[in-house]
This record gives sequence, structure tokens and C-alpha cells, in this order.
Amino acid sequence: MIREIEINNTKIRYDLQYKKVKNINLRIKPDGSINVSANRRVPQKAIDEFVMSKAEFIIRALDKYKNKSNEASKQIYSETEVKELILNLCEKVYPCFEKRGIKYPTIKFRKMISQWGNCRSEKGVLTFNTNLMYAPLECIEYVVLHEFTHFLQPNHSAKFYNELAKTCPDWKEKRKKLKDIHIR
Ligand SMILES: [Zn+2]
Repeated sequence: MIREIEINNTKIRYDLQYKKVKNINLRIKPDGSINVSANRRVPQKAIDEFVMSKAEFIIRALDKYKNKSNEASKQIYSETEVKELILNLCEKVYPCFEKRGIKYPTIKFRKMISQWGNCRSEKGVLTFNTNLMYAPLECIEYVVLHEFTHFLQPNHSAKFYNELAKTCPDWKEKRKKLKDIHIR
């Protein structure tokens, strides 16, 4: 159940769920949503008051998450720049894959929601997410190597990561950095 209260002229919405908890619990998720769980016997007014009493904490937490996501969504390259950069990286890494009998792929670009890149090995096509303009160079390099490696290993098996490690030994670090990028 969504409840709305006002703290210092700011409307705060929270999701109230009745659960078998002792009294009232409040949790703020990184996306800024506020979840409150309360025991059924706690009156609604007491729950609102409890949330109000946490006002300072809530406002501080929401600010922190807001700043964090703003910070993460900084654009580094223009769309033209990122496309050019990716094409250059593809040419740079290709010799390693040419040796393994891989034909030079068709490179495509698209704005994608759930993936940074995509490899259609049977068609010889690599597609890169233009949102990589939000990623630092080392992460873009990782994505390029990751997608090229799919020509050797189609899935994300241990074999795949063994192959990837040959051209990108610090793939784990780079993948972690990539996960911290939030685009709005
Ligand atoms: Zn993959």
C-alpha cells in the first residue's frame, strides 16, 4: 500500500506492507524508494508518525542516492566519438582474433537497455550500445574484447572467461566498473 506524508514541504511516498515484524521497520533502497513493514496491530497513524520521526535520516539518504546516480550518469563521449572509438578498438584487437580464424565482423550500433554489446557469431555481426558514451575507455575496451571473444565461445562458460582473460586479464575489475554506470 502506497502512503504519502509531508516532511518539510516535501511529499514523501512510502510503500507500506504488513508483515510479521515486531513493530515497524523502514528501509530505503538505492533507487530512492522507501519500504516500511509493520505489524498489523500497529495503527496507521503510529506508522506515519514513525516515518515522520525518521525525516532527517530519509532526506539525507535520498540526497545521497540522488547524488550518486547523477554522478554516475556523466557523459564522456559524444555519439560520434564513441562510435569512432569503438571502430578503432575493433581494428586494434582484431589481429588476436584473425589468428584464430575469425572473419572481420560487421559492426553495428544501437541504443540498448539491457546489454552493452551483442555478438551474433553465425551472422558475423557485433552490435554495440551507443550508451557506452557514458563509459570510460577501459570499460569500452572490455566490452569490445568481450563481444569478440563470443566468436570463440558463444556463452558465458568458464571457457569463455579463460579466452577473455588472454586478451583482457583484468576483465573482472572492468566489468565491475561498468556495473556502476547508471544511465537515466
Ligand atoms: Zn557476453
